[in-house]
Amino acid sequence: MNKKIYAANWKLNKTPEEAREFVIKLKNDIFKIPDFFSNREVMIFPSAFALEAVSSLCAGTDIQFGPQNVYAEKSGAFTGENSAEVAKSLQAGVALVGHSERREIFKEQDDTLNKKVAVLQSLQVLPVFCIGETLAQREAGKTLDVCYSQLNNGLKEINKELRLVVAYEPVWAIGTGKVATKEQVAEVHAKLFEYLSSQGFKNVQLLYGGSVKPENAGELLKIPHVDGFLIGGASLQPDSFLKISTAQ
Ligand code: PEP
Repeated sequence: MNKKIYAANWKLNKTPEEAREFVIKLKNDIFKIPDFFSNREVMIFPSAFALEAVSSLCAGTDIQFGPQNVYAEKSGAFTGENSAEVAKSLQAGVALVGHSERREIFKEQDDTLNKKVAVLQSLQVLPVFCIGETLAQREAGKTLDVCYSQLNNGLKEINKELRLVVAYEPVWAIGTGKVATKEQVAEVHAKLFEYLSSQGFKNVQLLYGGSVKPENAGELLKIPHVDGFLIGGASLQPDSFLKISTAQ
């Protein structure tokens, strides 16, 4: 059985110093839990300026980390962008792609996301590809159509044999405190699992994201095809992140 994944999206929070404090505390607390990594994977997504700080403290541990976004080219005249190759040189093993804030605020389109996933794969960095519907799309009964389209178009040219993580995050549940119901999560995850298998993806894990907290993590984790969480607000404190990571 796959290990459960607990992924922390810090968004635009934490200085390098604060990032270091978090990782030091997390490592100390994890150390006290026997066999913590035997059934879990932990991923941290700091902002770009804090990546090196996280890298220096995670070296030699099982804590994985990576950027919240990369550019679709590895290098060149792209002022202000962040390179997957540079992240890799800092030992990043994972990267977020297509978070709803990237799609909505920065207008990232499926074809660009597709290139980003391909660049990451070429560097052996595991993409965590985010999808999810807005409230208007859900109310119009388009949740699955939106998710399938984001998967189809955003993962068109990628290698389906390689490991991939897909995070289903209903946009209306991100940062709002409105967690999707068990039934909603169960329905979408079951359909996504079926769909990805039918499309030939060989090695995919499915995360849920959207207002996950220590109080709701245990219930959500029992839902079939929920292989872990992408966590925003509740990942900013080591205590709540660890409570989610150990919830049953
Ligand atoms: C996220 O940023 O991906 C997220 C799920 O945020 P939150 O947990 O705060 O809803």
